[in-house]
Amino acid sequence: MILDVQSLRKHYVGKDKKPFIAVDDVSLQLVAGEVLAFLGPNGAGKTTSIKMIAGLIQPDDGEAFICGHSIKKHSRKAISHVGAVLEGSRNLYWRLTPLENLIYWAGLKGYPHRIAKERAMDLLSNFGLQDKAHDTLQKLSRGMQQQVAICAALMHSPSLLLLDEPTLGLDLQAADRIQELIIRLAKEEHVGILLTTHQMEVAQTLADRVCIVRKGRVVLEGHTHDVLEQFSENKYIFELG
Ligand code: ATP
Repeated sequence: MILDVQSLRKHYVGKDKKPFIAVDDVSLQLVAGEVLAFLGPNGAGKTTSIKMIAGLIQPDDGEAFICGHSIKKHSRKAISHVGAVLEGSRNLYWRLTPLENLIYWAGLKGYPHRIAKERAMDLLSNFGLQDKAHDTLQKLSRGMQQQVAICAALMHSPSLLLLDEPTLGLDLQAADRIQELIIRLAKEEHVGILLTTHQMEVAQTLADRVCIVRKGRVVLEGHTHDVLEQFSENKYIFELG
């Protein structure tokens, strides 16, 4: 199992200074080559959940194991198996080229320059971006920038890829391209992928399994077809939930 999340909880303090629960008892599992969609409306707690799994924020309670390593007790080891694109391409440098960006990211992970360059060119070629390797990032389309962000997350060959709203704000063609890449990464490279989305069609197209999240809780979980069918039939219950 690549990811085993057990009863994660997180509270924040709201603008009214009162604490509220953003993530409440979230559990999920993910195996190699599987795509799991965390589907829910704005504010449901999807990003908070994925940030805890990425080690960016500490859970109040619960645990997550990545490739068997606890994010609490062995966070460095656990996180070494994770690639994450949580803010689209905003974590990239706009005045650098895709190649320079990827080499920079690999450098942070301790990769020697020559190995990083080879890996970066391989990834850019796999994504059909080899001709753009030496353009500055700001000249690329948003879809291409998002692809470069995914390449950056894959530089250290992670077993688990976390994607927060991977197609949000992209035009249809770019969104299709990213969706094809996600499916290829899972099915051909056997990367386990956990993604968040508020769009049912995205979950339907990409995911093997879906967790529907409402107000911090997983209200429905299972194989995509079954979950979405059940959700459509009982939509009013979940909307009230
Ligand atoms: P979205 O797509 O809008 O980001 P989401 O499902 O990803 O929705 P979260 O971003 O996890 O939801 O937010 C869950 C709740 O926690 C929301 O009410 C949000 O306003 C609140 N929240 C998120 N981060 C913080 C923070 N750092 N401090 C206080 N409240 C926060």
